[in-house]
Amino acid sequence: FSAGICQVFSSRDDINALLTSAGLAITKRSESSNNIVWFNDSMKEEQIWERNIEDDMESALENHEFQVYLQPKYSAKEEIPSAAEALVRWSSPKLGFISPGKFIPIFERNGFILKLDDYMLTEVAKQQSKWLEEGKKLLPISVNVSRAHFTTENLAEHICEIVDEYKVPHDFIELELTESAFFDDKAILLDTVRKLKAFGFKVSMDDFGAGYSSLNSLKELPLDIIKLDAEFFRGADNLERSNLIVGDTISLAKKLGMQIVAEGIETREQVDFLANQDCDLIQGFYFSKPLSVDDFEECVYCSK
Ligand code: C2E
Ligand code: MG
Ligand code: MG
Repeated sequence: FSAGICQVFSSRDDINALLTSAGLAITKRSESSNNIVWFNDSMKEEQIWERNIEDDMESALENHEFQVYLQPKYSAKEEIPSAAEALVRWSSPKLGFISPGKFIPIFERNGFILKLDDYMLTEVAKQQSKWLEEGKKLLPISVNVSRAHFTTENLAEHICEIVDEYKVPHDFIELELTESAFFDDKAILLDTVRKLKAFGFKVSMDDFGAGYSSLNSLKELPLDIIKLDAEFFRGADNLERSNLIVGDTISLAKKLGMQIVAEGIETREQVDFLANQDCDLIQGFYFSKPLSVDDFEECVYCSK
């Protein structure tokens, strides 16, 4: 049972508009608990925002309004850029500069994320092949692959095709998947991860520890890299406990032959702690925020 409720303030209120509002409220119910939802104005604003995004997304893709930003991952020991993650940014002439949190969830709901992920992978492959032609030493770049993508069959072949078009050696492309993908079709996910690895791509688990099935997914998926979620490093209340967990997670992953990346690292203390614990790579504002391709080039290739 679920219900959306919209309060009637006057007998002159338009009944159709009230029904629409109550209908909008009902879409906000959460699967686990809240089945009775009161309408409020922010829901309408959200809906308008969503419509704007949906109206513009196709043309934005054609017009290259989505841009690849690259956040370097630094080696914990030498503290030099050793890899990077591609993160999307939308520079819209109409809506301004938009960060992914504002449109990725919408694209995940309406399926457009499949096109966007393909676009990002293509742009990254194109850029890597350009650097290769210029004789630059490539760094592995990871691309986020949405949960929705993992339920499509032949994803591994599809990724391979995109990368091969630009003749980029597979070890310079890494695919990041999130734990939540684990809740969908496990058989397809496992098959995809195995195929990707057989093709020579690295596969990493993003936001490790943020979900519920972390250890289970470690057991079942043959992953190359785990990315410790930034949440481990937030809040000073239980620093001792979280340091213990981080330290032991790193050693567990090492025993499983995996590489460890710590995400969201903002302070020198965190860097020192992670280097001490034998963490491999560090990604976070302490070293660098996500950079435009030009700035990344300057950071990685001009300082050497
Ligand atoms: P993510 O893949 O876990 O990416 C890391 C996020 O943490 C990025 O946020 C990055 O800017 C942010 N970050 C990095 N270092 C720090 C730090 O030191 N402190 C703090 N507070 N934040 C830090 P961003 O770029 O806003 O992306 C958010 C999420 O959107 C990503 O989380 C990823 O799940 C998703 N995303 C971004 N680009 C894509 C894409 O091309 N495809 C898909 N499917 N998802 C994407
Ligand atoms: Mg990621
Ligand atoms: Mg992450």
